[in-house]
Amino acid sequence: LWAAVDAYAFPHSHPTSRPNHKALEHALQASKAAGLPDISASPSQAKFMALQCRLLKVTHALEVGTLGGYTAIWLASENPQLKIVTVEYDHNHVVIARKNIEFAGLSDRVEVIEGAGADVLPKLKEEVLAGKRERFGFTFIDADKQNNWNYLTWAADMSNPGSLLCVDNVVRGGKIIDFNNTDPRLLGSRAAIEKAGKDERFDSVVIQTVGEKSYDGALWVVLK
Ligand code: SAM
Repeated sequence: LWAAVDAYAFPHSHPTSRPNHKALEHALQASKAAGLPDISASPSQAKFMALQCRLLKVTHALEVGTLGGYTAIWLASENPQLKIVTVEYDHNHVVIARKNIEFAGLSDRVEVIEGAGADVLPKLKEEVLAGKRERFGFTFIDADKQNNWNYLTWAADMSNPGSLLCVDNVVRGGKIIDFNNTDPRLLGSRAAIEKAGKDERFDSVVIQTVGEKSYDGALWVVLK
């Protein structure tokens, strides 16, 4: 039913006549053809993030976990003012993402950096603090969940006050409250939820979601 409602509602909120429809469909199909897993944000979720970027007039965004570039293409194609840096450690994913981004005509505004988030983010932070890169207004954390808290704090150090940060997949079908389950992805998500709540720099909330990607949710954090 959740998937059926998405299938009904999404084409109404984003008809196929929209200019980025072809590029987004191409990104999904080319990623599938290349054997990438079907784990990008759903169209509705990605569009919701693009709308957040529009509301906040974000000019620089950061993503950890590119996959085939689907969400990066959403954010950049819906926001002509936005440049995005997206980090991915799987070489095959990087190759496919760059091709998808080129097909979308967004290579000048979407930078894919190949490397592990835990290596790349500290380097990005150095560059931001040295004034060689702009601070970020929106961050989407969607990679190895064990590092969620590290990514959140590195990203916060590179963000402006009032910036929005999103940590995806923190609910995992409700497993987040199965405290006997020590799956490192759950531990990483719990750490992010619990530490964000105690951190004076942040104001945060978990929003549960259902849809074509089943039952999950994200931690939304505003940097004070
Ligand atoms: N954000 C993408 C979207 O919505 O289109 C989906 C990202 S997918 C859920 C997670 C991605 O994170 C995968 O492509 C995976 O290879 C990448 N990844 C996993 N661990 C990583 C790490 N340590 N550093 C960088 N990327 C990582």
